[in-house]
Amino acid sequence: MKTPCIAACKNEGGICIGCKRTITEIIEWKSMTDIQRENVMDRLSGKTSTHTCPECEQPAQCDIKMGKETCWCFEVETRDVGIISENSECLCQHCLSKKPIA
Ligand SMILES: [Zn+2]
Repeated sequence: MKTPCIAACKNEGGICIGCKRTITEIIEWKSMTDIQRENVMDRLSGKTSTHTCPECEQPAQCDIKMGKETCWCFEVETRDVGIISENSECLCQHCLSKKPIA
């Protein structure tokens, strides 16, 4: 089974700082279909993206924009991202995991 795990798992407010998956994704990983796993890995690698992260300008993905009802970021603890204007896009999982938990 493919996994982005780099054996450096540490739960940082709902995001693994090693592989950047959400804890929910890690828990559900084994029961996901291959396609679901591919989708997560594509998001983590920036292969699929909906916008660029306003902080690092790397590819970021908002699942809502992909047509889903929830976003991966709903599963992680709310972060203190500072002042973000209403139109600004979501941070990528790398930047979000570095922010202090609100
Ligand atoms: Zn970023």
